[in-house]
Amino acid sequence: MTINILHLYPAEMNLYGDHGNVLALKKRCEWRGIKTKIINYEPGDEIPDNVDIIFGGGGQDSSQSKIEKDLQKIAPKLKEMIENNTPALVICGIYQLFGNYFETNTGQKIQGAGILDLYTKGEDERLIGNVVINTPEFGEVVGYENHSGQTFLADESIAFGTVISGAGNNGKDFTEGIKYHNCIGTYLHGPILPKNPRVADFLIRKALENKTKKFQKLEPLNDALERKAHKSAAKRPR
Ligand code: GLN
Repeated sequence: MTINILHLYPAEMNLYGDHGNVLALKKRCEWRGIKTKIINYEPGDEIPDNVDIIFGGGGQDSSQSKIEKDLQKIAPKLKEMIENNTPALVICGIYQLFGNYFETNTGQKIQGAGILDLYTKGEDERLIGNVVINTPEFGEVVGYENHSGQTFLADESIAFGTVISGAGNNGKDFTEGIKYHNCIGTYLHGPILPKNPRVADFLIRKALENKTKKFQKLEPLNDALERKAHKSAAKRPR
């Protein structure tokens, strides 16, 4: 069995080690004898029909503007996949653009894909630093944020987590990210998956369950190093 990972716009949208998340997924599959195929999607490409996991990373406002038009073209297909429970991880820039729109701090309105019910407004002050959140499903999650956009969810009850330290979605309402069906949207770079292996395994497990239509229990891995990385990130002052 091969898990097909769709990496959205890796050339433009890949800040603060976000590509490391794709490598973490690949490695955690390999260690369990599961094959992976990484499909790099760039503007103008076709999205294949057999995508098992969707990944998108962060990018500057100018990069977000560059992919805006193409994203509109593939938005219906992405939306259908998310509605059909395809697992996805979208970070910062792509997280914002999976929402309704991002109005930058210069007043430019970038249309989103309308998959997640949220909007983002750019402010002059950037929200930068280490973040610790508490999530109902994965416990403590750690990462690093750097964004001017402040994101507001239509339904705060489906936030990915609650902010313990850092800013999260907007620095005001203590929400961080979103969890909608099997799609996790978050501001956390880092990359997030190596330091939070439970989140990585959630994506892999859901991909396998969708493929086999059966509950899957993943083989446990030795996560001693991952736990160490998590702990040291959690202790770092903001
Ligand atoms: N350009 C967006 C912002 O500043 C996203 C930044 C990012 O992906 N880190 O809000």
